[in-house]
Amino acid sequence: MSHDILVLGSGPAGLAAAVAARGRGKSVLVIGNRWQDSPLARAERVDNYLGLPAGSGKELLAQFYDHAVKAGADFVTGRAVSMMVYGGVFATVGSQVYDGKALILAPGVQRQAKYPGEETYLGRGVSYCATCDGMLYRGKPVAVAGRSPDAPLEANYLKSLGCQVTYVAAQRPEGLDGDIPFVRGSRLAVIGEQAVTALEVDGAKLPCAGVFILRQAVAPTDLLPQLETENGVIRVDRTMATNLPGVFAAGDCTGGPLQVAKAVGEGHVAALSACAWLEEQS
Ligand SMILES: Cc1cc2nc3c(=O)[nH]c(=O)nc-3n(C[C@H](O)[C@H](O)[C@H](O)COP(=O)(O)OP(=O)(O)OC[C@H]3O[C@@H](n4cnc5c(N)ncnc54)[C@H](O)[C@@H]3O)c2cc1C
Repeated sequence: MSHDILVLGSGPAGLAAAVAARGRGKSVLVIGNRWQDSPLARAERVDNYLGLPAGSGKELLAQFYDHAVKAGADFVTGRAVSMMVYGGVFATVGSQVYDGKALILAPGVQRQAKYPGEETYLGRGVSYCATCDGMLYRGKPVAVAGRSPDAPLEANYLKSLGCQVTYVAAQRPEGLDGDIPFVRGSRLAVIGEQAVTALEVDGAKLPCAGVFILRQAVAPTDLLPQLETENGVIRVDRTMATNLPGVFAAGDCTGGPLQVAKAVGEGHVAALSACAWLEEQS
């Protein structure tokens, strides 16, 4: 089912955007990791959110999520691994594609730095999506750099396709197929020539044709390479519009202060702007 607005991210900004857009009668699909995965869930105490002091970050998030559910937003829990804006908005989560007319980006900030070589070989051996690209590596050696809870399942899926999978992480995760070799390591670098030839793990080369880097989140600029940034954050105007028509952004992804109040306010503005944009199109 198509939605008026897709929201990427189920933190304060995304949930505020969902509530505001539902208030304007728009159908909304929030695509995001579990709401408990917002960094706010790690705050033991939040004292500076107006009217709701002294609770934990998790309590505050639970209230935000509950509000968005009651407002009638739909939810897909999972990592968006690719997006396209072309006569609408399309987002891939696992093997499913979801579509909408406008998009609000609220993915927070990417806290995990990229590995050396990752950017260079993206699309030439480096992939963020086992479901999308796994078939390309059938019968070939691939390394999975597992940095997200669902990474072991993705590695198992690659093995089921016939890829020769090696899993690389700081420790062997639960749920990983017992037949998949595990290499312990944390300093990673992607090595290649025209395309990927190896993953370097703590200085040792692991030869492979593909490297699947599976983090909790994919940076919005990797999802939408045409998205303009400024000083490392998504460039927006006062209506929270980005440089792409019908695409808005809110919260930590647009820059500081990295605070809940700012994320919620921007989410609200982005939703109203997306609604106005939709009205203009109809
Ligand atoms: C320990 C700690 C304490 C804090 N304490 C306070 C405080 O007391 N007061 C305060 O105001 N602020 C505090 N903050 C800051 C606050 O948490 C952030 O400003 C706020 O969470 C930003 O909201 P957001 O919606 O922009 O992004 P986030 O909360 O980061 O939410 C974004 C969500 O999108 C998900 N996501 C990203 N990319 C994808 C993708 N490709 N597919 C699916 N999901 C994706 C992320 O996993 C995340 O769940 C604290 C932060 C931390 C880490």
